[in-house]
Amino acid sequence: MTDSPMVTVNEVTKTYGSGSGKVTALDAVSFEVGRGKLVALVGRSGSGKTTLLNCIGGLDRPSGGTIVVNDITVTKLSERARTGLRRDTVAFVFQTFGLVPMLSAAENVGLPMRLRNAKTSVRDKRVAELLDMVGLSKHMNQRPAELSGGQQQRVAIARALANDPQLLIADEPTGQLDADTGTAIMGLLREVISTQGMTALISTHDQSLMDIADSTVRLADGHLVAEDDPTFVGTGSRATGSEHQGRIV
Ligand code: ADP
Ligand code: MG
Repeated sequence: MTDSPMVTVNEVTKTYGSGSGKVTALDAVSFEVGRGKLVALVGRSGSGKTTLLNCIGGLDRPSGGTIVVNDITVTKLSERARTGLRRDTVAFVFQTFGLVPMLSAAENVGLPMRLRNAKTSVRDKRVAELLDMVGLSKHMNQRPAELSGGQQQRVAIARALANDPQLLIADEPTGQLDADTGTAIMGLLREVISTQGMTALISTHDQSLMDIADSTVRLADGHLVAEDDPTFVGTGSRATGSEHQGRIV
């Protein structure tokens, strides 16, 4: 069972709207992510990265196809079960950090454990460990507005790790950061993913992530176009090389 891929995406399609306004954001996308891998998801703006990540993590549902995460068929889950998936199995890191403004760094990191009713003593210990891991122990009582962008993203990464997710999904996590801070955040992600034995799927425009990723999945116009992993089993033959954004059908 643990030999199965962490993520299997099979012929996934997502359309928005209908009639002449119909947009195909994902068009029969298939690929796998092996356990313990860090995979970079790249492609220009509008190529379908956010749509794909949201479907994999259970924030959104595809129009067709199947997604399996950690042997759970996400595309068959009810809304309630998808909420459970996001609490127990998958964690998200967003470009805009997504911290709760009125909570301190420590309270933000502890939030997922509160939602799981973890004991206070267990939670406090884990929060301290996580803040230490991301280098923010001294800032634990500061609120997001009192932290830099890079520090806020470190808090968001610590929060994402709180419930020991199997899969970390990060959608352009360095998109709002300057280049040096972005490189530092990518290095931190690489380190925590390796030391925690997690799998990660990270969308980016950032070459520094592509350099440290185990493999790259490239989207163009909702199609998968290339993959540099020799064990890749995706639909490379579907490559279109199209430069269009968000195909209108
Ligand atoms: P990326 O993250 O690579 O920039 P997205 O997944 O956000 O790409 O978008 C892919 C395509 O789907 C784009 O053409 C975008 O305009 C369209 N799209 C995304 N979300 C919606 C939505 N809620 N309604 C309609 N179209 C959408
Ligand atoms: Mg996006």
